[in-house]
Amino acid sequence: MCDHDRCEPASHPLSRRLLLAAGAAAAAATGLRPGSFVGPAAAQGTDPPRPNAIGPDAALRRLLDGNARYAANTTQNKDLSAGRAARAEAQYPVAGLVSCADSRVAPELAFDQGPGELFVVRLAGNFVDDNGLASLEYGVAVLGLPLIVVLGHSNCGAVAATIKVIQEKKELPGHLPQLVAALKPGVEAALARKPNDPLDEAIAENVRHNVRRLEQAGPIVAKAVADGKVKIVGGVYDIATGKVTML
Ligand SMILES: [Zn+2]
Repeated sequence: MCDHDRCEPASHPLSRRLLLAAGAAAAAATGLRPGSFVGPAAAQGTDPPRPNAIGPDAALRRLLDGNARYAANTTQNKDLSAGRAARAEAQYPVAGLVSCADSRVAPELAFDQGPGELFVVRLAGNFVDDNGLASLEYGVAVLGLPLIVVLGHSNCGAVAATIKVIQEKKELPGHLPQLVAALKPGVEAALARKPNDPLDEAIAENVRHNVRRLEQAGPIVAKAVADGKVKIVGGVYDIATGKVTML
C-alpha cells in the first residue's frame, strides 16, 4: 500500500480526476447511499488502493501516532508543497473530525497530518448539527472516510457557557441560545451526576453524546457504522499538553 505521507501522482497511475468522477457518478446514481464509496469500485479492478483505503483502527492509530509526535514536538518535517498537484485532482482524507472552533485546537497540527488528510467540521462546542452531518455524510459516502473523531478539548468556552446558562439561568444574546441548546443534552447529563469537575465532565459527556448521535445518524453514517466501514470515536484534546485522550 502507498505510504500516504509520501504518496505521489506517479504511484497512482489511475487518473485522480477519473476516480473522482467515478465517485461522483456513483454517488449521484445511488443518492449517496452507503456503498457508493469511490474506493470499492476502484479496488475491484487492478488499480492501486486509495491512500485512505485503510480500516478504522489503522486510521485511528495513524492519528494517535501523529498526536504523540505533536505532543513530543517531533512532528514530521513535511514539505507542504509536496503532493499539491495530486491534491488538485482529488482528496483522500484518512479521518473525519468534529472539532471545536477554538483557535487553540488545530486538528492537522495536533495529529501531525498534512493537507488532504483530515476532513474537518468545526463549530464551537464540537457538536453535530444537520449541516455538519451532511458534510460527514459526503465524507463517508463519497470520500470513503474510515473513521470519524469527535474531539472535545480542555477549557472549552462553549461548554462552560452552557453550564453557566443552565446553573444561573442566564440568557445569551444573538444566536448563542441555539448553540447552547445543542450542547445541553450532554452537559445536563454530566451535571446530573454532580461531578467534582463539572466542566471536564461536561466536555467529555458532550463528546460521548455526539459520538452516539453520529453512530445513530441514519441513513448514511449509521449504515456505514453497522457495516463496519466506519468507526466513530471520541477524544479530548488537552490544550496544556497537546495530548489527545480517547474516551
Ligand atoms: Zn471549545
